Amino acid sequence: MSPARLDKGPRLTSDPGGWAGLRLDEPERPSRPVREVMMAQLGGSGPDAVPIGEVVAPPFARTPSPDLFRRRAARFAAVAPHHPLGPYLSFLGRMAEVQAEIQDGLPDPALPPPDALGRSREYGMPALPRSRFSADPACRETLRRFFRAAAETEMPPDARAALGRLVQTDDEMLAWMADNVTADAIPAHDAAAHVFAAAALQVYAARAASRLDAAALVPVGDGICPACGSPPTSSVIVGWEGAHGARFCSCSLCGTLWNYVRIRCTACGSTEGISYQELDGSAGAVKAECCSRCRTFAKVLQQAKHPALDPVADDVATLALDMLLGEEGLRRSGRNPFLMGY
Ligand SMILES: [Zn+2]
Ligand SMILES: [Zn+2]
Repeated sequence: MSPARLDKGPRLTSDPGGWAGLRLDEPERPSRPVREVMMAQLGGSGPDAVPIGEVVAPPFARTPSPDLFRRRAARFAAVAPHHPLGPYLSFLGRMAEVQAEIQDGLPDPALPPPDALGRSREYGMPALPRSRFSADPACRETLRRFFRAAAETEMPPDARAALGRLVQTDDEMLAWMADNVTADAIPAHDAAAHVFAAAALQVYAARAASRLDAAALVPVGDGICPACGSPPTSSVIVGWEGAHGARFCSCSLCGTLWNYVRIRCTACGSTEGISYQELDGSAGAVKAECCSRCRTFAKVLQQAKHPALDPVADDVATLALDMLLGEEGLRRSGRNPFLMGY
């Protein structure tokens, strides 16, 4: 793989090679235009409503469960067959397996001391300072271990070339990559390599967030994770007992879920001008919540009815929705390192 190919990163253009030699463009395009997709309102009565007699008292936040990446790997494996993006989804499934497998024996992430956590809570700040993740030796070790384990898996030649260089990298470079991911400042010339760094950082951030007291997290603003300050990938309507039908945003970095009112833009907070679109035939499983004020959309996954839906895997698997809404002049607000460049 030449540096020029690395420059391109995971594009969704008509480049026949695409990132990692996988096409992410035309095969996904559905046959029907977005104008024909079903318009639907979430909430109110109807099939999305809360079961009669159930009191909904959702917790504000839920930190990532230990099986986050295993369930994600299973979901990627389930959606890949017969999917136009099948090879890419299978590849990401293997990356999720690596994310799960490297955790045994990793050093514990450094958490802020209790007084710092208290100050963050008091001032409505995220609990974890993601800009300082790279200073933690456990963070760099997580990246190093992820790169090595990922290199053992099957992957397209271009991806292997990007990864091969990372396996040799030193602490300074690891910290630089981690800082780029947490600052959302991925250099265009090195986008492919940073996809691996982002996947590794998800592991570190999830392990750090899972050690926080979820009950102590506080709202820090629209579209901002209360645990680590990152934007969401997508949001889910959950079927949890006692919270059935509540909506949670899913953090793109640490995987924390935080409660967010339905029919409200996750990017700008507007409750006006919200509409929903979905791909024809998706049966309400994944909808795009579209905001006419900031002209963005965010996906809403109906996990209450389809428990296997995953905020990351199903976001990638419904790329067609992004493409069609993009043609309508809407841009996605959710961040997903595996859709970088889109
Ligand atoms: Zn987070
Ligand atoms: Zn908005």
